[in-house]
Amino acid sequence: MSLFSGFASDVAVDLGTANTCIFTRGAIVLDEPSIVAFNTQRGCVEAVGTEARDMLGRTPPNITPIRPMKGGVIADFEAVEKMLAHFIKKVNRGRALVRPRLVIGVPPEITPVERRAVKEGAVRLKASEVHLVDEPMAAAIGAGLPVTDPTGNMVIDIGGGTTDIAIISMAGVVYGRSLRVAGDDLDAAIIQYMKKKHNLLIGERTAEQIKFEIGSAAPLEAPLSMDVKGRHLSEGVPRTVRITDSEIREALCEPVRVIVKAVREALERVPPELCGDIFDRGVVLTGGGALIRNLDRRLRDETGLPVLLAENPLATVVLGAGKLLTDRALLKRVAVE
Ligand code: ADP
Ligand code: MG
Repeated sequence: MSLFSGFASDVAVDLGTANTCIFTRGAIVLDEPSIVAFNTQRGCVEAVGTEARDMLGRTPPNITPIRPMKGGVIADFEAVEKMLAHFIKKVNRGRALVRPRLVIGVPPEITPVERRAVKEGAVRLKASEVHLVDEPMAAAIGAGLPVTDPTGNMVIDIGGGTTDIAIISMAGVVYGRSLRVAGDDLDAAIIQYMKKKHNLLIGERTAEQIKFEIGSAAPLEAPLSMDVKGRHLSEGVPRTVRITDSEIREALCEPVRVIVKAVREALERVPPELCGDIFDRGVVLTGGGALIRNLDRRLRDETGLPVLLAENPLATVVLGAGKLLTDRALLKRVAVE
């Protein structure tokens, strides 16, 4: 029997600033960039997700790629709705939906108006019920933290556009802060560094590749290096430059410092009892940005806290939303209106 046959099953969605993930029937079935490419001439959607990402930097003027969730707020309602519709149709392989229940993880800072727009969009997709949950709450649940206990649970979710820091106790967010410095800013810092230090112009995807391959937030055990292709700024010709992990650490120094500082500030603002819990139990790091090498060690060194990297940082939120599909009692307690 096909995984999707009938598709009466419920669906969990993580609407991330960088990536959208979908979970249904016990498995993650979609993981694509949150990007929509509009054709402004014909007034329609040209491509969504991975296909739209592959167009970035290569589009003619009549095609505009939009990252609708970019800063942790909804920049474009229509784009979000189109994106959601496209992805859900895709996991459903074109079959008509049998009115599933939807649990959608949304950035914690979106406004009530934006939340309503997401809900209405999902209802138009013929969902029977739509529940929204803050992404940091979903991340904590996905990481297996005891969110309903009267104890402090701290999660740091480093995505593409925002770093969300939350302290959760008794199914509520006791402290929450959304910082507009995250994975995308690390890429931007690498672009700047390559320009300044090597006179080399590189694109966003190359910058991200450098971050994946040799990026780190604290010194590594063994050095790493890689060759980077770009355009030499003064000569205007293609050029290859060899760079090292220590150079990229220098490039990433400022955005990483801002993230570390925000974590320290969070600890200063929490009620003392919860702070004690966190010192005992530690902090969980989630989100793709948490995968930068040695960020956990850096945070451990600078805060004195135990820091744990979630098992699958890119999927923690959607797995948490997925757990809520089968735990109605918990869903009732943590869903936002
Ligand atoms: P969001 O929830 O905002 O959609 P994600 O949790 O999907 O974001 O994380 C996306 C971010 O994680 C991007 O900035 C991406 O470059 C970064 N990322 C993904 N994998 C890695 C990795 N191995 N090392 C460093 N950064 C990574
Ligand atoms: Mg996320």
